[in-house]
Amino acid sequence: MSKHKHHPAKEIQNLQFFGEFGGVNPSISDSATYTFLKAKTMLDTFEGNAEGCYLYSRHTSPSNHYLATALAKMENTEAANVAASGMGAITPVILQLANSGDHIVSSRTIYGGTYAFLKNWTPKFNIDTSFVDITDLDKVEAAIRPNTKFIYAETLSNPLLELADIEALSRLAKKHNIKLVIDNTFTPLIFSPAVLGADIVIHSLTKFINGANDTVGGVICSTTEFINDLKNVNDGSSMLLGPVMDSLRSAQILKNLRTLPVRMLQHSKNAQYLAERLEKDGVKVKYPGLESYPQKALFDQMKHPDFGYGGMMTLDLKTGEMATKFMESLQDKNVGYLAVSLGFYKTLFNAPGKGTSSEVPEEEQAEMGLSDGLVRMSVGLDFDIEDTYQKMKEALNEIGFFSPETKSLN
Ligand code: PLP
Repeated sequence: MSKHKHHPAKEIQNLQFFGEFGGVNPSISDSATYTFLKAKTMLDTFEGNAEGCYLYSRHTSPSNHYLATALAKMENTEAANVAASGMGAITPVILQLANSGDHIVSSRTIYGGTYAFLKNWTPKFNIDTSFVDITDLDKVEAAIRPNTKFIYAETLSNPLLELADIEALSRLAKKHNIKLVIDNTFTPLIFSPAVLGADIVIHSLTKFINGANDTVGGVICSTTEFINDLKNVNDGSSMLLGPVMDSLRSAQILKNLRTLPVRMLQHSKNAQYLAERLEKDGVKVKYPGLESYPQKALFDQMKHPDFGYGGMMTLDLKTGEMATKFMESLQDKNVGYLAVSLGFYKTLFNAPGKGTSSEVPEEEQAEMGLSDGLVRMSVGLDFDIEDTYQKMKEALNEIGFFSPETKSLN
C-alpha cells in the first residue's frame, strides 16, 4: 500500500459497531466466561474452529475484540490483541518471538521498563540483547547475529525523540529474515509503522490513545497468524502470561479513541507553538517540527501529512537543579503537572534521567545524550497556548535561566 493511502483517522471514523439493542455504542460484555448450547461447539471453539464464539475472557471478549478491531484498522494490520498495559503488550511479544539462546537487537533509547526487561529480565532465560544507536543503520546491521530474532525500536524514542527509519529497518530485517517490532506509543496516527514495513506494532494505550490518564492499557497489532499465536491456549504468551484487559476498560478506551484525531491535532499545534517560541528565546528545544530537529527530513518523509509533529518535546535546562526548579514553578503556575506519562489534556513534565529512564545506567545515559537537565514535556490541549507560553517564560525568568551565569553553561 502506498504510504498515505491508508488514513488512520478515517478508519476510526468509519468504524460502525452496533450495540445489542441497536445502541450507538457496542454493548459491554460483562462476563468472564461464555455458555454454549452444544458441547461440540465448545470443543470447536477450544480448537479455534468456531468463528464468532467466545469461550473465556482471558482469550478474547467481545469488548476487547471491538477495541482490537478498531486498533488493527488504525494501524492497517490484519488483527490485534489488547492487553492490560503497554508492558503487558511488549513482554509477551518479546517472549513469543525469542526463545532461550536467541538474540535481539534493540534501540538503546527506549522506554525504561522495556529497557529493564531486555537488559535485566530476559537474560535469566538466556535471551541476549544488543543495544544500538537505531539511527545508525550500519551499527544495527553489524549487531545482527545468526541467532537474532528481531529488531526492536520505538518510532520516536522515549525520551530522546530519536526517529527510527522504519522503511530502512524493515529492509534490513527482511534481508536477514528477522522481524521488525515497533512501539508507536509517542506517535499514533502520525506514523503507520505497518504501512512502512513493521511486522508488529505496539502501543501503550495509557498515553495518547486513551488520553484520560485513568487507566493503563496496551495493544499488539500484527498478522492474524501472529495474534493467534499469542492467544494460543497451549503456548501463546499473551494467553499464558495473562495480561488481559478488563472489558469495562476496553469499552471506555474505544470511546476515547474516537477523539484521538482531533486531540493529536491540538497536541501538535500547541507543541509546535511552544517549541518555536522557546527556541527563539534561546532554550535548547528538541521537537520534530523545528528545522533544527536533526531528522526533520526523514520525519517529513515518513509522517502522515495530516497530524503535525506530535505532542512530545524536550527542553535542555542544562542542570538537574534548573530542571527541578523549572518543573516546580510550572506546576505552581498550573501550566500542568510534574508527573510521568504522556498524552493528557494537561501538559505533563518530568526529568527522565532520574525518573522514567532511571533503569538506564548513568554512564549509558551520558553516552546517549540524556542529561540531568533534560525535561520531557507532553504538551496538553490548552485552548490559549500563548498564555501557557507566557507562564513558561515567566518560570524560566524566575529560575534565572536567562542570567549571564546560566548562559555561560552553554
Ligand atoms: N512504551 C512507551 C514508549 C512508554 O512510554 C511506556 C510507558 O511510559 C510504555 C511503553 C509502557 O506502557 P504502560 O505503562 O502502559 O505499561
